[in-house]
Amino acid sequence: MRGVLGGVALVMALGLAPSAHAAGEAWAAVRLPSAQDELPQAMGSAAAGCLAGARPLPAGGEGYQVLRPQRNRFWAHPDTIAYVEGLGRRAALEGLGPLLVGDLSQPRGGPMPYGHGSHQHGLDVDIWFKLPGRPLNDAELAGPVPITMVKGTKVAATWGRGQMRLLQLAAADPGVDRIFVNPAIKAQACRSAGGDRGWLAKLRPWWGHDEHFHVRLACPAGSPGCVPQPAVPAGDGCGAELASWNAKPTLLPDSAKDKPNRRRPVLPAACERLLAEPELHAAGGR
Ligand SMILES: [Zn+2]
Repeated sequence: MRGVLGGVALVMALGLAPSAHAAGEAWAAVRLPSAQDELPQAMGSAAAGCLAGARPLPAGGEGYQVLRPQRNRFWAHPDTIAYVEGLGRRAALEGLGPLLVGDLSQPRGGPMPYGHGSHQHGLDVDIWFKLPGRPLNDAELAGPVPITMVKGTKVAATWGRGQMRLLQLAAADPGVDRIFVNPAIKAQACRSAGGDRGWLAKLRPWWGHDEHFHVRLACPAGSPGCVPQPAVPAGDGCGAELASWNAKPTLLPDSAKDKPNRRRPVLPAACERLLAEPELHAAGGR
């Protein structure tokens, strides 16, 4: 790590752009999906992959709004788009909407220059726990203010029945492989789930994830190059695994959020080809 940083310092001292350093720069610079790949294909894994034939999530639909559209991270596999739209509709039916939808993927997936290490193959989406109960205006969507749901090792007063129900709805879709949440949130879900515990296995405790939860869909049919994660452990995950988080600090400092990505994942060769293809102009920008 030190050697890499030293190299960057040298490049910067020479007055050269440090673009070679940030793996995600090239992927973020491509503003649209490719023209060649009409067939949606999730390739590689969430942390080292890309997406052909991405579709844009419409900026606003029934029961949801897209946050920070200026990031151009509202692209995903069509299964993910359908998932978000379906969740929005279900949330609206229960009076929970509009949901605030955070980052999905870049137009061709791939690594991002800052923020997430995953979200690379079009099957990941962040959804905020904050339920404003009214539509946000454009300025609020462009610069939304998150609210943490966790205080120490417990859920905060901001957590409520709506958040719990939203998680349940989000996990109910059979296409969902796992959902990352803060360990304090998983613990709260374990306590309040009652007899219906089948869905709890999908809730995976992880650092951060106190302002939003992160949904990862399973590899879709028709994407033979998609690399699945190992199955989630059997059981509801409310026992020893969760307890192992007890002594750890699980909230991230602000300085750790949206920080530059210095990792350079090794992507499938098909991803390098995808990156080089011309843009699909018919898709239009937003
Ligand atoms: Zn995420």
